[in-house]
Amino acid sequence: MIDKYKKLREWMVDTQIVERGIRDERVIKVMKKIPRHLFVPENIMDDAYDDRALPIGYGQTISQPYIVALMTELLELKGDEKVLEIGTGSGYQAAILAELAKEVHTIERVEPLAKEAEKKFEKLSIKNIKVYVRDGTEGIPEEAPFDRIIITAATPDIPEPLIEQLKEGGIIVAPVGERYSQYMLKAIKKGKELERHYLIPVAFVPLIGKYGWKEE
Ligand code: SAM
Repeated sequence: MIDKYKKLREWMVDTQIVERGIRDERVIKVMKKIPRHLFVPENIMDDAYDDRALPIGYGQTISQPYIVALMTELLELKGDEKVLEIGTGSGYQAAILAELAKEVHTIERVEPLAKEAEKKFEKLSIKNIKVYVRDGTEGIPEEAPFDRIIITAATPDIPEPLIEQLKEGGIIVAPVGERYSQYMLKAIKKGKELERHYLIPVAFVPLIGKYGWKEE
């Protein structure tokens, strides 16, 4: 049987990811491997490789494939890192990170999404991801420090606890700005400060929590 999703995945990587300038071979390879269609609701599986974010329930989304690839590339993973993700959502970004790093700790505030993501990781025999249900803006002090941190929801600024929990020289990638429009930020920890590089405009769902936005 021809795997139609494998073909769609290759098309996605060629036309949306390589075409737009993603060059890290490890990122390209893993985007071709992880079955994105298994991370979206069954009734929209055929849309999984489209060039856009998709709804996953509870008012939340799985990010556009290119944005997942870009954020992953910006993290500069070599394979031995301990990574913290805020905003598990569907679990797709965590599954991508798990292939490229040593371990992934991912936090989701919506419990059913966290449980659903855990089931996906089990189904795909991904063993180096740990899922937490709590306010991700406070990080995971008991697991710190982290080599890399990725926030996959829009934040007014990088939450202070996350800066504290990032290793010296570590990288944090996050959409930073207004509640409904942000810039992708790549920041490197230098002492107590972050060296900041703002990249492209993006639009993520808000990060809700103590150091994020208030629930509306
Ligand atoms: N990384 C996800 C994926 O691969 O599907 C997409 C994440 S979605 C754009 C943002 C997620 O952040 C939502 O699932 C939302 O519930 C979650 N979120 C928002 N505020 C949060 C917080 N304070 N702590 C943890 N998760 C949060």
